[in-house]
Amino acid sequence: MPITAVPSSAPSRPGSRRDAHTGPCAPVPAVATTGATLLLNATYEPLCVVSSRRAIVLVLAAKAEAVDVTDDEVHAERVTLAVPIVVRLTRYVRVPYPVQVPLSRRAVFTRDGQTCVYCGGSATSIDHVIPRSRGGTHTWDNVVAACRRCNHAKADRYLAELGWSLPRPPGAPSGAAWRLLGHRTVDPRWREWLGMPESVSA
Ligand SMILES: [Zn+2]
Repeated sequence: MPITAVPSSAPSRPGSRRDAHTGPCAPVPAVATTGATLLLNATYEPLCVVSSRRAIVLVLAAKAEAVDVTDDEVHAERVTLAVPIVVRLTRYVRVPYPVQVPLSRRAVFTRDGQTCVYCGGSATSIDHVIPRSRGGTHTWDNVVAACRRCNHAKADRYLAELGWSLPRPPGAPSGAAWRLLGHRTVDPRWREWLGMPESVSA
């Protein structure tokens, strides 16, 4: 895979507003990528997921260093490089984040460990704890991961009417790891950097 150019959008002015839009997390357009790479700040705080190609570009430009690599190799600029799965910026950049994690099916599933909160089975759907037909909102504190069977059995009833209960009150997730959700699945090799256990409970 030839790497021909280092994009001018590489991080150059930490702390500037420009970083938010053109910094290391900016997508690389129209390129076939070999995979995804977790990008860490210089402080090892997870920043975002970038294409492996972009990660390689950052490493070649000495903007980042490989922290963990795959078995795959790429030949670029007369050097052979292991394709990085985790890279760390050599200089700290300040990146603003949304205040709250966007509510998505994937994010709810991840928060609830991919399991049904009612029976512990494999989650396949989203359930509104207080049914929408009875005024329940589509918000972090009212959505949970559920299996189809429980979702069907619960229908539009309150938990109290069924004698069911929640293992924990649902709520919005927080922390660096959640900034990466809603876009891609989490590579198992990123977990130690994301501070995420195998089964996430918020
Ligand atoms: Zn269930």
